[in-house]
Amino acid sequence: MRLLVSACALTVLSACSQYSTAPQSSLTAPEFNEARFRQDIQTLSSDKFEGRAPTTHGETLTLDYLSKAFAAAGLEGANGGSYLQAVPMVSYTASEQQQISLGGIPMTYRKDIVMGSRHDTKQVDIKNAPLVFVGYGINAPEYSWNDYQGVDMKGKIAVILVNDPGFALPDSGKFDGKAMTYYGRWTYKYEEASRQGALGAIIIHDTKPAAYPWSVVENSWTGAQQDLVLDKKTQDSRVQVEGWITKDKANALFEKAGLSLATLTDRAASSPVHVALEQEANIAFANKAEYANSYNVVATLPGTSANDEHILFTAHWDHIGIDPSREGDQIYNGALDNASGTAGILEIARQFALQAKNGSPLKRSITFVATTGEEQGLLGSRYYAANPIYPLDKTVAVFNLDSTNIYGRTSDYTVVGKGKSELENYLANAVKAQNRAVVAESRPESGGFFRSDHFSFAKFGVPAVFAGGGSQPVDEATAKYKADMKEKFKGCYHNVCDEYRADWDLSGALEDLGVYFQAAKVLANSNDWPGYYPGTEFHSLRPAKTAVK
Ligand SMILES: [Zn+2]
Repeated sequence: MRLLVSACALTVLSACSQYSTAPQSSLTAPEFNEARFRQDIQTLSSDKFEGRAPTTHGETLTLDYLSKAFAAAGLEGANGGSYLQAVPMVSYTASEQQQISLGGIPMTYRKDIVMGSRHDTKQVDIKNAPLVFVGYGINAPEYSWNDYQGVDMKGKIAVILVNDPGFALPDSGKFDGKAMTYYGRWTYKYEEASRQGALGAIIIHDTKPAAYPWSVVENSWTGAQQDLVLDKKTQDSRVQVEGWITKDKANALFEKAGLSLATLTDRAASSPVHVALEQEANIAFANKAEYANSYNVVATLPGTSANDEHILFTAHWDHIGIDPSREGDQIYNGALDNASGTAGILEIARQFALQAKNGSPLKRSITFVATTGEEQGLLGSRYYAANPIYPLDKTVAVFNLDSTNIYGRTSDYTVVGKGKSELENYLANAVKAQNRAVVAESRPESGGFFRSDHFSFAKFGVPAVFAGGGSQPVDEATAKYKADMKEKFKGCYHNVCDEYRADWDLSGALEDLGVYFQAAKVLANSNDWPGYYPGTEFHSLRPAKTAVK
């Protein structure tokens, strides 16, 4: 699932390079130590760390490195003195030998369909389960939309379109137009099908609304799938099987049912829909579950007068690890993704600690969570949000770093999912002090806001931001450098060539660290409780108490 869940600067925070006039440089934050920042990135992404996969030797080295770095900076271990929070994980592996037929049409594993089970069961054996098309598979009261209205999904398998009606009809005022809402994410589709009591859920792949080709689905959904060990009730209510089917095979299935997928897709965008296909699914495959703990690293710098209130910085320390089946280089070093963000929170931690030591402590506490398992589905952050060391109702805000800017300084500053929360105002003020302009990401339809660790907190109504970088280089020289570096780094997202380079221009990344630092500092010395804007998916979960305008 890696490629599907993790968004990074490469794809989200940077668009085409364009020349613009250079703004005045004005770092509002203290001088970050670039050499030390580079050293951290280089060490964490070195071959010795083996690509930092959860539950491997690479994890042991990473935990040790980060714990020591936080301790050296003067931060406390947040978990009763320890820097580690155990995250119980389970790894599910579905057999490659799968017998699947839908509507009597045999489906070839990988080529036509991918299927797995997030249950600790040795054998999945589903016989003659009715298939029900449920449109986009959305139940969203705030949009007055329920594709499941009046249908009993017990014992049945939901067949679901990817993305949301706003993508199909951007000018209709439905959902958030072209920008993907959480209802468009595949994770939501399975969650909702589970809440509806369905036996299984199959998403119809379509490259445009999914924003990635079938090959990504195939690579991400085959082999071991790491997940959190859930409480029994949540676990039991999950669908037995979850999968994806190619559009070609879905077309064939709908034809078999005497229906047109194209027509139904149109209908599903204009109003909620469900249609029994009057066809059955037969699914059989062997399954394996293996258990192991991974760890979040959590360090805190206690505040003075309001030290029970916390501002969080998150960055995932994990990456993909080693693939022994590869020819040549087998190590996914993850230098940009996300040794850079991890090094970023270390640098911010050091600066806050230094200022506190030099007589400028903050009123509120600042807490750093280096998360595990982001690449496997935001696992570490999901675990922390469900089992917080400091209560979420005392957690003021979350600043997430996932892949810093390596393309030099920009005159703009990208906020992913812009328009969601009042927390953006604190960023905007800090950005303004750097004479830069806040902009939205270039492709909100790909759902970047839901694809890194901040989202795990948004789901609980805690204001969380994912921001940095921009698309406008500050001058011609930077634009040229950016074009060159883009070429050198082409194809390296989630690939073995995501390695540290001494010729990276990190000046833009350091400015971005300054924005987070300054925004958090203002918030940490205030009594403000920013919230999500009314009308967004998360507002009702925790309305704002007070915030700067
Ligand atoms: Zn990442």
